[in-house]
Amino acid sequence: MNKKVMDLLNAARASELTAISQYMSHHYELEDADFGKLASKIKDIAIQEMKHAELLAERILFLKGEPITEPDAVAKKSQEILEMVATDVGLESQAIKMYNDAAVVCAQEKDQISRQLFERLLAEEEAHLNTFENIKDHVDRLGGPYLATITGE
Ligand code: FE
Ligand code: FE
Repeated sequence: MNKKVMDLLNAARASELTAISQYMSHHYELEDADFGKLASKIKDIAIQEMKHAELLAERILFLKGEPITEPDAVAKKSQEILEMVATDVGLESQAIKMYNDAAVVCAQEKDQISRQLFERLLAEEEAHLNTFENIKDHVDRLGGPYLATITGE
């Protein structure tokens, strides 16, 4: 087992577990505040992060490692919508940096399959970042009228 690659896979998994916990929490807090349309977008992203955590665990087990079960941070609670999306932009930006670096290290360590996994996750994290940045931009620039469009079921 390559310890460098294994540590990267597990660090990625811990960050996915944080994202899952954070986005689930945003999902049910937004739903509770009747921002159902935004809540369901974030729920979809939380489910994609669960798939990422699973893919990482499968790769870790294939390489005879042990998948980490603890997130690397605690989810923030009771944030305003703008704070929420700023948190989410931060998580996705961190993941993008981490996975870009990890893909390079995996190639150096001659583990092309782990590199491919990081690149696959990277593409989805870029899409997530784009979604969160757009929402943040709408809230920033349009405020109340935008918020009115994301209420309800
Ligand atoms: Fe992810
Ligand atoms: Fe993501």
